[in-house]
Amino acid sequence: PYSGAVVGLRFGGRFPLDDGDSAQATRVERCAKSRAGRKAAYPIGVPKPPAHLAAPFMRSKAAPTSAERESMPLSTMKRVLLKLSGEVLMGDQQFGIDPAFVMELAREVKTAKETGLEICLVIGGGNIFRGMAGAAQGMDRAQADYMGMLATVMNALAMQSALEQLGVQTRVQSAVQMDQVCEPVIRRRAERHLEKGRIVIFAAGVGAPYFTTDSGAALRAAEMNCDALLKGTSVDGVYDSDPKKNAGAKRFDTVSYGKVLADDLKVMDASAVALCRDNNIPIVVFSIREKGNLARVLSGQGVQTIVRN
Ligand code: UDP
Repeated sequence: PYSGAVVGLRFGGRFPLDDGDSAQATRVERCAKSRAGRKAAYPIGVPKPPAHLAAPFMRSKAAPTSAERESMPLSTMKRVLLKLSGEVLMGDQQFGIDPAFVMELAREVKTAKETGLEICLVIGGGNIFRGMAGAAQGMDRAQADYMGMLATVMNALAMQSALEQLGVQTRVQSAVQMDQVCEPVIRRRAERHLEKGRIVIFAAGVGAPYFTTDSGAALRAAEMNCDALLKGTSVDGVYDSDPKKNAGAKRFDTVSYGKVLADDLKVMDASAVALCRDNNIPIVVFSIREKGNLARVLSGQGVQTIVRN
């Protein structure tokens, strides 16, 4: 008799999915929308709701296996991690954050989001502070790296502010806990944010010195089960030599993880590339400086290099 219906059972304690709303009716509605809730509402033997009842932001199918991910075209991806180097937040400045340029980037991200993608963001801190640079000037390396991690939190907050001015809901989760500023990294909570249509900005890399935000991006892409790691930089892909120094440098359309590591091609640091290789996460390198390029790349019509097996 309840085929196709959403029912709620009211227990004495807090409902497992409850994160603050009080009305049971709201919970039931959310139960129908959420992936976890859908499982609870439609146990084995009870038919799933018709497609039109499915929330538009839900993944239309379960997360792909790592083998499926390997051959997935960009235009069919459902969840991506976008890594932006801190440098791109500087705009034309030599240092720091250019709010107008951050707003431009936020517009790019918003456009991509509007295609229905679930987006995780990782932003570097190189526009403010890099641990290596501090260490080169005599600072203690670990101490300098913590300063670099704090720089990534500042960038994350700047991007959050720009996105929310555009009406895009976001949450910042930091690997270095700072409760007054943002949430800590909690994977299942991040998952919930994505299901609700929010962008999750992961700050402070992996939360440990001697790493970079590239490794942080690879780690979050793996744990959030992202279909690809998109690296938005100042160049439009991976070249066999430095295109700024060598006019004849050739851009790869695709290149293997192995070649990137063996030839030390400047894509991301080796630990990040290895983590992506081990989890079959394609790395898509493209220029974020060209207007509209993120959306073009995601629709499969952009210029980029894809690193995969
Ligand atoms: N960092 C760190 N651990 C991490 C991520 C970042 O120690 O997991 C520090 C490190 O000093 C790094 C700085 O934060 O240089 C800024 O990050 P990154 O260099 O990756 O920024 P990007 O080059 O992408 O702007």
